[in-house]
Amino acid sequence: AASSNIFRHKEFNLQSLGIGGLGNEFADIFRRAFASRVFPPHVASKLGVKHVKGMLLYGPPGTGKTLMARQIGKMLNGRDPKIVNGPEVLSKFVGETEKNVRDLFADAEQDQKSRGDQSDLHVIIFDEIDAICKSRGSTRDGTGVHDSIVNQLLTKIDGVEALNNVLLIGMTNRKDLLDEALLRPGRLEVQVEISLPDENGRHQILQIHTNKMKENSFLAPDVNLQELAARTKNYSGAELEGVVKSAVSYALNRQLSLDDLTKKVDEESIKVTMDDFLNA
Ligand code: ATP
Repeated sequence: AASSNIFRHKEFNLQSLGIGGLGNEFADIFRRAFASRVFPPHVASKLGVKHVKGMLLYGPPGTGKTLMARQIGKMLNGRDPKIVNGPEVLSKFVGETEKNVRDLFADAEQDQKSRGDQSDLHVIIFDEIDAICKSRGSTRDGTGVHDSIVNQLLTKIDGVEALNNVLLIGMTNRKDLLDEALLRPGRLEVQVEISLPDENGRHQILQIHTNKMKENSFLAPDVNLQELAARTKNYSGAELEGVVKSAVSYALNRQLSLDDLTKKVDEESIKVTMDDFLNA
């Protein structure tokens, strides 16, 4: 099955996946802690141990958590993982949220039922997982509704109805809000903090997002990414991507007249300069 692809990814390289700023050390920790421990169900049954069921990526917004989870998911079974968003799963109707949570696992359940150990690994990415997995008892409604949602999720990961073919990747900006029970061994047990990039990291991220324009000669020779990295302390990956986008719009605005927009533009004449970046 496609899920055995993981063994072909010994050389796990974040930058080639378009993820910058996390460093080799991080890639190494990540590879050992996670990639090497996630294996397809039929291998798990031969080894006699369960694969890692869940992982938590946490840290400030815009640092590449979703990007990373999506790439990992794709890498693990060759197709786009299922991505859901905490607030989207929440429903104001009684029992509906629990049903939404159960539905997330329906494909994996069906696959496990019909193919047993030969089932694919189903990767489910849960963005803003804190929205539905706040500490039990921490909500003030006193209805216990939250508890039953968390329980529903736990049941699928390691309860009586546990699935052996699921990898849940949860993401949050607020790890402190999460229900402790979710973080125990067997649950979201691999926890990786993704923090804001340092200067080298910012340089890498700027390189990733200007790579295309450099390749196609749109980047002026005076653009100094290292200097930009030094000047963007505390910027997240998403904000750096925003700077690149904004620099491009400064450049286009400067070099194209309104008339040009209705004509075919002479690509050669477009350059994004250091000034455009500084303005951005
Ligand atoms: P949030 O917590 O707000 O959901 P996030 O940590 O999941 O944020 P992403 O959605 O992955 O962040 O980041 C948004 C976009 O910013 C990415 O699609 C990517 O283009 C860019 N980006 C963020 N971090 C990085 C990074 N480390 N390397 C390259 N690009 C990045």
